[in-house]
Amino acid sequence: MFENKTGRLIRCPHCFAKDMDVFLLYDDEKDEFYCYKCCFCGDLKKVNEQMQTFLKNKYIVKRYFEKK
Ligand SMILES: [Zn+2]
Repeated sequence: MFENKTGRLIRCPHCFAKDMDVFLLYDDEKDEFYCYKCCFCGDLKKVNEQMQTFLKNKYIVKRYFEKK
């Protein structure tokens, strides 16, 4: 598995949204994370924000379908 310098494995929110478990790589020069599968790149804050947005949307959709 790929590892980045923080020692943590961070999933790509874009790929995660497509049901793919892809871990982000760390770019020393730009000081941000990037994905080797899609064009996603950004700092940890951006990663977390996008992941939160996705999880929130998924939860809402799931709840919507369970009600029916
Ligand atoms: Zn990706």
